[in-house]
Amino acid sequence: MTNVIDGNAVADGIRADLEDCVDTLDNAGVTPGLATVLVGDDPASETYVSMKQRDCEEVGMNGIHVELDGDAAPDELYDTIDDLNDDSSVHGYLVQDPVPDQIDYREVIRRIDPAKDVDGFHPENVGRLVAGDARFKPCTPHGVQKLLDAADVDPEGKDVTIVGRSRIVGKPLANLLMQKTDGGNATVTVCHSRTQDLAEKTRRADIVVAAVGAPELVDGSMLSEGTTVIDVGVNRVDADTDEQRSSSSQNSSSSDDTEKGYELVGDVEFDSAKEKASAITPVPGGVGPMTRAMLLYNTVKAASQQEDVDVSL
Ligand code: NDP
Repeated sequence: MTNVIDGNAVADGIRADLEDCVDTLDNAGVTPGLATVLVGDDPASETYVSMKQRDCEEVGMNGIHVELDGDAAPDELYDTIDDLNDDSSVHGYLVQDPVPDQIDYREVIRRIDPAKDVDGFHPENVGRLVAGDARFKPCTPHGVQKLLDAADVDPEGKDVTIVGRSRIVGKPLANLLMQKTDGGNATVTVCHSRTQDLAEKTRRADIVVAAVGAPELVDGSMLSEGTTVIDVGVNRVDADTDEQRSSSSQNSSSSDDTEKGYELVGDVEFDSAKEKASAITPVPGGVGPMTRAMLLYNTVKAASQQEDVDVSL
């Protein structure tokens, strides 16, 4: 029987633990503060930041939201960043990507105080991660590690194939999984758009992580029996009105999404992959909730470090 890993349940458990940490901080007179900065009015970004703010409230953290117009000059954003760096009630913050064209996101990242960089994207934090001394593990890769742990899949000694080499998912995940620490010690292959014979790389893996942004790129024919499959991808595709698909698919989006004219699918073709996998994450309800939970985790960690209060993370 394939284990369909319930990311919502794992994330709930992490949030419950974080609530205890927030209580400990509260007893020391500290409320962890997370700020989100949104430049412009990209609808998907608006949804993401409002979910992050709601998450803060739910665990008793202080959520601060800053919005700038889509035509804001880079200096306006840099002033906001300087203010957040100086604000001791803000322990962590992020600038939601993508930013409008007039703003250089790399420059934005460089200006964030690394101690408050709860996304883990600042060059100093990237360097520390690679050196095996992570201050903040980036949220999605850390969430993937937690999902593997929750599914009792230890990467040690396993062959892992990661499809995708992005700055935010593929590269940091490869680093985490190859490290000589618990949750690591895997032999990692990283694939990308120039990789030859992708299916050969996925078939030889014990664990496949798909982080591409290509709907249902990885299907069951590309997997060996017993593989663990983690699907990071979130792709909006036109709602499928085909009755056969809606009656056969075990992992389609909610009827709400279908009514909006789209549905969410991952980078893995769930039904055929599930036939081969020993464990698999669904989309939605797999990696997504974990990314949000690990952002809260990093914010609690940042507050604990900045305020010198021990919490058991
Ligand atoms: P990027 O676009 O930054 O990177 C995609 C990677 O996939 C690149 O390395 C690219 O190769 C590679 N790639 C593209 N096409 C192929 C192909 N045909 N075969 C093999 N590799 C290919 O994406 P992200 O990492 O930011 O995101 C990936 C997916 O994960 C998206 O669907 C995104 O929405 C989702 N996501 C989900 C999160 C969550 O919380 N669930 C969080 C973050 C992302 P190359 O480098 O050569 O261009």
